[in-house]
Amino acid sequence: MPEIAIIGGTGIYNPDTFEITDRAYPDTPYGKPSSTILTGKISGTEVAFLFRHGKDKGSYPPSSVPYRANMYALKQLGCKYVISACAVGSLQEEFAPGDLVIADQFIDFTKKREYTYFDDKIVHISIPEPFCPYLNDIFSGAAEKLSLKYHKGGRYMCIEGPRFSTKAESFMFRNFADIIGMTVVPECQLARELGMCYCSLATVTDYDVWKEEAVDIEMVKRTMSECLGNVLRLLETGLPEIGKGRCCSCVEAAESAGAL
Ligand SMILES: [Zn+2]
Repeated sequence: MPEIAIIGGTGIYNPDTFEITDRAYPDTPYGKPSSTILTGKISGTEVAFLFRHGKDKGSYPPSSVPYRANMYALKQLGCKYVISACAVGSLQEEFAPGDLVIADQFIDFTKKREYTYFDDKIVHISIPEPFCPYLNDIFSGAAEKLSLKYHKGGRYMCIEGPRFSTKAESFMFRNFADIIGMTVVPECQLARELGMCYCSLATVTDYDVWKEEAVDIEMVKRTMSECLGNVLRLLETGLPEIGKGRCCSCVEAAESAGAL
């Protein structure tokens, strides 16, 4: 079974480079995942692919994504590494539309999600570095090799959505973060609870409303589709490197907290 999972949207899924070998739509104690999980190969590397916002089994906006079921299902399939592809807004001038950001921190401004697997057991997971440094190194190395414009490290502000920010919020967030999106929380922390390595490959689609007059979904979609090729090439270059010499403490963080 694949050790690597990709969570992304329909754009990131490229039927031309992904040969499907199997499909699963498993039950978990937290319900069903957002889509059928496809397994197959990208650049010769076996991966599982999950559509975060649904595809064949419904449509899930950021607040309604079954995050716990998604991460649990991937763990059940044997995945150790989770790579999230997503679109984000920029909160800083130097994070320009089209840039790729390999986030290294998040701030949680979500309000109504299922955040943990431990509602009935005392487990305090340690998460000072929430994203896996090993995966971040692999993908920043791949971005360098491909001469992509990328940022190794970035503070991701996660908001509830589905609305975008007000100007007042956007100016406030600029004091604390570099990019803004709606999906890293709780995905990232659930991965840590399950002892899985997690990284986020974020494409900047717009300057948030601190700079833009307004952000609309068409603007986001347009930039994302222009940049999809970059993310796909990044995956093709980085995926074969995963598992060759892991050095991170994602599993140990879960073990020492009593989560595994
Ligand atoms: Zn790790």
